[in-house]
Amino acid sequence: MKKDKKRINWKHTFKNNGFMLGLILKACPGVFWLAMIQSVLSAADAFLLGTYLYKYALDALQAGKPLKTVIITLVCMALYSLLYILFSCFAVRYYKLKYPVIDAYIQSILSKKASSVDLKCFENPAFYDTYIKAIDSMNPYGVMYTAMGVISGVANIIAVGVLIVTINPIFLLLALLPLIYTLLIGKKRNRIGYEYDMRNKELYRQRDYVRRAFYLRDFSKEMRLTEMWRVMFKRMHDSISEMKETVRQYGYKLMFFRYLFDFIIRVLVGTATIIIAAFKTLVRKTMLLGDCFVVINSISGIAGNINWIGETLMNLDQNSLYIDNLRSFLEYEVQIAEDENALEVPVFEKLEIRNMTFVYEGQTVPALSNVDLTVNAGERIAVVGHNGAGKTTLVKLLQRLYDPDEGEILLNGVNIKNYRLSSYRGLFGIVFQDYRLFAATVAENVLLRGDITDEDRETVKDALKRAGIYEKVESLPNGVDSNVTKEFDSDGAVFSGGEAQKITIARLFAVKHEIIIMDEPTSALDPIAEQEMYRNMFNACEGKTVIFISHRLSSATMADRIYMFENGRIVEQGGHGELLSLNGEYAEMWHKQADSYADTEEATA
Ligand code: ADP
Repeated sequence: MKKDKKRINWKHTFKNNGFMLGLILKACPGVFWLAMIQSVLSAADAFLLGTYLYKYALDALQAGKPLKTVIITLVCMALYSLLYILFSCFAVRYYKLKYPVIDAYIQSILSKKASSVDLKCFENPAFYDTYIKAIDSMNPYGVMYTAMGVISGVANIIAVGVLIVTINPIFLLLALLPLIYTLLIGKKRNRIGYEYDMRNKELYRQRDYVRRAFYLRDFSKEMRLTEMWRVMFKRMHDSISEMKETVRQYGYKLMFFRYLFDFIIRVLVGTATIIIAAFKTLVRKTMLLGDCFVVINSISGIAGNINWIGETLMNLDQNSLYIDNLRSFLEYEVQIAEDENALEVPVFEKLEIRNMTFVYEGQTVPALSNVDLTVNAGERIAVVGHNGAGKTTLVKLLQRLYDPDEGEILLNGVNIKNYRLSSYRGLFGIVFQDYRLFAATVAENVLLRGDITDEDRETVKDALKRAGIYEKVESLPNGVDSNVTKEFDSDGAVFSGGEAQKITIARLFAVKHEIIIMDEPTSALDPIAEQEMYRNMFNACEGKTVIFISHRLSSATMADRIYMFENGRIVEQGGHGELLSLNGEYAEMWHKQADSYADTEEATA
């Protein structure tokens, strides 16, 4: 394993933890302030009841203070403690009560950000990993409790420290002895601790993946029908073996350092304190009985507290690593963003792509190279080519999900970057090949919005009829208001691949857009159903501009102009007849497909 000797950047660590506390403050100020007050009150309680009470009682006894005064003071302290217990019980229950509010607040910020970040982020595994980690490892309460521990620990050390100094500063030096240990050995111990935690974190991450693979629906079929469960099982056992190995490698060393520390505090510091205090109290008689008790009782405590804070600060650093993920996600600056002051799109006349080149992040080969393409209002444009030719990438760029690296896209002669993003994207109605239905009603899935009115329902019904899926929807108990999927409704409708695709196609019929883009919308349909669907769609889109993407050429015959893509370049363009007579790539693809259709027909005849 590579050793990570990263130095802790404390400023960054405190900033990150402060950021998380800030989120709690915004989500629920009551929780934040109660936590802060509880930290200080708990330090006061520990000091009063754990240290000062004994000193006061013994000193009073020795000095012969009036019993009434002593009793009143002790009762006051007990009362404080009682009130503190009542307060802290309330506070802890209150935090738990508000957990869902805090979770929902942070989740809503993350979701809002997730919906606005550039698509490229979601296609970038490193970014996606950061996002998933930010969600998975978010633990605002861990940060809050750690911060509370540090605040009350520091307050307690200060209070007890001041008291010990007033008794005799020499004892404070004894209390600080473990610090010398920490300075000498702590660095090594912390490094081993850090490596131990890092290694474990990696192993826990792998273990969690396996755990998810056993319960996530995405994997459920393969896990049952194939041997993958054995592979996952083996992964889990490997992780467990590695965990044992990590304990062997680091765990015992850490245990030894902790044991050594306990020995220094309990045996060395503790014994030295008892001897010196007893000598001063009993032999020299220069110390009061109460003071003697205080130092014996609190020296190990204060030393342990200093060490505990040291370890807790390490927790702050651990938290900081997770918060880094959250912050880098939330602070990501969206590149293709909405600009309220930008132009609204005019009535569509012409879309031109000029010498456009685009390379996906992390790739060297362009997905699109020197593409020139024109779409006039009312035209039907087919973009064809084999898988991986760059067709979907072209659609993503047309929709400004990405911007070109070179060249430009013009709408009515103006670069599309000058238009307001939502206004520009509103031009397009699109059906993607990898369509998705949401866990929402059928009508919401068709219109892709909420607040469905009766008028909307009629529009949806009409669109579903045109897409050839209305009969199925009508047979559902709540018609177009039926829920899709069983996520929120145990009676929710489940559609087959082809049916779901028809519902997404109905979106094109329901909402009027100037330009319709169909990215292989019929891939889940058989060739005959595909032809029929295309015919329906073209009828519905009469007079509209249509750009359709396909690797099946039968539909391309309906286009005014065809662009044939190969390895990210346009290799041929023109009408169907024109391209066939060229006898090039398009003609070859056409003949191959015509043969395979003929074979299929023969096979099914
Ligand atoms: P088509 O739609 O014609 O099948 P695509 O536009 O999906 O082709 O892909 C064009 C090329 O870009 C392919 O080589 C593909 O592997 C690559 N590609 C697609 N999406 C990404 C991505 N998100 N990151 C990196 N490469 C990608």
